[in-house]
Amino acid sequence: MGKIAIVTSEFLIKHAGAPSHPERPQRLQRILEFITSNKEDFEIYEPVEATDEDILSVHSPELLDVIKTPAGDTFTMLEEDTYVNLYSLSVARMAAGAGKIAIDLVANESKKRVFCAVRPPGHHAEKSKPMGFCLINNIALAAEYAINKYGLERIAIVDFDVHHGNGTQDIFYYRDDVFFISLHQSPLYPGTGKENETGKEIGYGYNLNFPLPAYTKGEKYIEIIENSIIPKLKSYKPQLVLLSSGFDAHIDDPLANMYLTAEDYSEITKRFVVFTEELDIPLVSFLEGGYNLEALVDSVASHLTALSGKN
Ligand SMILES: [Zn+2]
Repeated sequence: MGKIAIVTSEFLIKHAGAPSHPERPQRLQRILEFITSNKEDFEIYEPVEATDEDILSVHSPELLDVIKTPAGDTFTMLEEDTYVNLYSLSVARMAAGAGKIAIDLVANESKKRVFCAVRPPGHHAEKSKPMGFCLINNIALAAEYAINKYGLERIAIVDFDVHHGNGTQDIFYYRDDVFFISLHQSPLYPGTGKENETGKEIGYGYNLNFPLPAYTKGEKYIEIIENSIIPKLKSYKPQLVLLSSGFDAHIDDPLANMYLTAEDYSEITKRFVVFTEELDIPLVSFLEGGYNLEALVDSVASHLTALSGKN
């Protein structure tokens, strides 16, 4: 296995709200420092901005209208948790556009695994509503791009962020060409992600939630992945697997109460590396949450090592 392809840009640091906000620029800054100091292991690709057409492939025009650039130099709150500043629309377009580059890399450049080191995160952004720090649903846009540009018919999205990926679920709830699977702490923000939310109409059976109690450990995640998720994926036969990689189930994360370690993220990632290797299909991972800076960098490092297939 060669170098891991990473799609990222320093420009993504420019989206900033209150200094006390957990989704702060330092998250990506620290990851970029790690990547730069180990740059012989990585190939870095610059994202492009997602166009209106890309955004409207997964969102309604109302969402585009809401996330427009505020007047003035400071930031504006769109809702309780979600801010925009002067740069946010361009940054969000670029975070979402990173997924397009990643899909092109696996489709045209025969890359097998790509990590999109992006912010703001995307998995809470619903069809018509930015929320939970998320403006555009990055992973949903990438899935839609893979379907529209490369004619894929079955894509699996596995979301192991500690929060339920309500936005991704919302966007694909009535569809069977994108199988959405989420493991998350429950009860916890945003309150969705119950076991009985299984998709509707043609999408029935293609939405799978694993709500987990606080203090769940990595072994439980592995047990669910091995005994429930991988068998489901085997019968679905995806042509591409996308990961919503949030690292906020880490024991040190301030926004949740799970007991995962950086090493657990390596073990989780390995399961999907092995599965996609067996099927000879690509794996593209997107950074979602993770709010303790040390824990985040350690977890991303473990995730990248596992993606590289080195151990
Ligand atoms: Zn999260």
